[in-house]
Amino acid sequence: MACRARAGRNRGRLQEWSMADMTHKEKAQQLLKQQYHCSQALFGAFAEDFGLDLKTAFKISTCFGGGMRQGGLCGCISASMMVLGMAIGFYDSQDKEQELYGNKKTDEFIRLFREKMGGRTDCRTILGKDISIPGEMAVIRQEGLIMKNCPHAINISIDILEDMLRKYFENVAETSFELKDIPDNENLQGSEGTGANKLHFFRKNVKNLIYSSARGIGFIQFDVSKFKIINDLYGEKFGDEILEFITSQLQEVCGENKFFANLGGDVFMIATEYDDKEELVDLIHCIDGRLRCFKGVKLCFSYGVYLAEDKSMELRQMEDRASMARQAAKKNILANVLFYKDQFKEYLYNRKFIEENMQAAIAERQFIMYLQPKYSIEKGEIVGAEALVRWRHPDKGMIYPNFFIPIIEENGFIKKVDYYIWAEACRFIKRCMDEGLIPCPVSVNVSRYHLRDDECIRILKDLIGSTGIPRQLLELEITETAEDQQISKKALMLKKEGFTLLMDDFGSGYSSLNILLETPFDVIKLDKKFIENMMVSSKGRLILEHVIAMANRLGLGLLAEGVETKEQVDLLRSFGCDQVQGYYYAKPMPEEEFFSLLKKENHLRDIRMVPVEDQNMAASAM
Ligand code: C2E
Ligand code: CA
Ligand code: CA
Repeated sequence: MACRARAGRNRGRLQEWSMADMTHKEKAQQLLKQQYHCSQALFGAFAEDFGLDLKTAFKISTCFGGGMRQGGLCGCISASMMVLGMAIGFYDSQDKEQELYGNKKTDEFIRLFREKMGGRTDCRTILGKDISIPGEMAVIRQEGLIMKNCPHAINISIDILEDMLRKYFENVAETSFELKDIPDNENLQGSEGTGANKLHFFRKNVKNLIYSSARGIGFIQFDVSKFKIINDLYGEKFGDEILEFITSQLQEVCGENKFFANLGGDVFMIATEYDDKEELVDLIHCIDGRLRCFKGVKLCFSYGVYLAEDKSMELRQMEDRASMARQAAKKNILANVLFYKDQFKEYLYNRKFIEENMQAAIAERQFIMYLQPKYSIEKGEIVGAEALVRWRHPDKGMIYPNFFIPIIEENGFIKKVDYYIWAEACRFIKRCMDEGLIPCPVSVNVSRYHLRDDECIRILKDLIGSTGIPRQLLELEITETAEDQQISKKALMLKKEGFTLLMDDFGSGYSSLNILLETPFDVIKLDKKFIENMMVSSKGRLILEHVIAMANRLGLGLLAEGVETKEQVDLLRSFGCDQVQGYYYAKPMPEEEFFSLLKKENHLRDIRMVPVEDQNMAASAM
């Protein structure tokens, strides 16, 4: 009963309060009169500015009365630190600039507070009595010392805070003005310093907007559909022109309280105030209309929108949610504009899980190599294997690569995982050789991430050198994409080093046949979906037949992957594709299992090679 009565009373107070349109000082004084602690009154006065509801603000700031109860640090100082933290604190551990700025400002606050309070910063000296001593508490109550002294400390704090925050946001506005002086193409051409700065200013402006606006804040993130193909078809210079065009159009559309930034590549972000969702949809239509066509080339975009209802959320998190929505829009065939839904959060949790656990996973050898055999249809024998990573997590069990590879490709950790799997593959080949088995080539996946630098070539050479295995036994699978120049260059270098190159997922994406001309692949791996799609129509089967014929005539090796049915095997064989990999033959399996399979096959081959009378002896020994 008592509890309910108290809750009711609080609710009444909050309603009264939220109706008032008052200054920070008036709010704080009213709260103090309602017997909230000074830390609660002060922080509560700023709650609305940060989009915090009062209850949350009160709860958080309650604990900051701790200093006061000990007769120590004045609650106004602790609460002011929180206000400063909410306004100018940093959340990115690498944002040293913001951290230093925040430290400077908190020191400055305490210095000014001390000055204005005549050197008094703790409760004991401000009240002239010690709250922590029961007898003195009675005197404080009798003489009304709190209402005599604390309003002054609160007002002084608010004066200092308002002044500091006003200067900070003026400074932000000025710096964002400087933005206009930076030539936009510097960012577009990947000048990292400038790009990073611009993003920094964008974020400062948006934080300011979130802090100062009473309206909703919406984030719209978008990118150009199939931008890589456009680059491929029309050249990178044309791609750059498109990005410049987008920037100039956004400059016209965005104005006061509408900010935009290029987040890198073809991804753009807009942050804007809004009152209802329709406004954002209208804005997207307006932008889409302006950007739809450039120099006669039709452009399409995917838009992700996040409505920042909870303004206390970290900016980075808001951006992430708009990004989630954009990525979902990219995959959606029915709509190119999607609003963030909570389901997308799952992706964020997964990413967080991966990022937090991946280092330990390497250190504790949780990543393991599985091997999937490749077969010759004709001979019915294993002709190789592909090494595929698995993550055996102590609590979550087996985690499959499609879950974590896209994320570790984004953050670069893929390098470590790949190096580990390459080393495992080399070790396995060496093991087979040491045990006298017929050498079986093992292919490893080479993420596109490696193609940025030459480190992978050095690593591969070191692995070959240290294990002493023949170079041709370690094959490299590289996925075809439209960004062929970079791949071609690196592939050529790998080829010169004597590695066998397999073009992975042929027919799955961009299918630029140019790549066959420019990049010295040895083997084409026909993608599972490609085979499936082609098999369903006579036209498709004709294309499949001719792609196989083309590869054969070019002297390229051919391997069909994801083969699941006898029908597929028969068709591929009739078209002239002999090598296959897929569940029809075998699923990826642990090293030991594959090793046993290989051993058994070697044994059978030995038997086939010896005269019939000896075969009987060998069979009885099995
Ligand atoms: P991928 O390189 O195209 O590998 C083939 C994928 O298809 C494997 O999935 C394999 O298990 C699966 N698969 C094979 N035969 C069949 C079949 O008949 N039916 C079906 N439905 N699936 C089949 P997995 O192992 O889950 O790997 C998925 C992708 O993750 C790989 O596709 C590859 O892109 C990436 N990946 C896996 N291991 C590594 C690695 O060590 N490094 C890098 N960079 N990427 C890896
Ligand atoms: Ca592969
Ligand atoms: Ca593949």
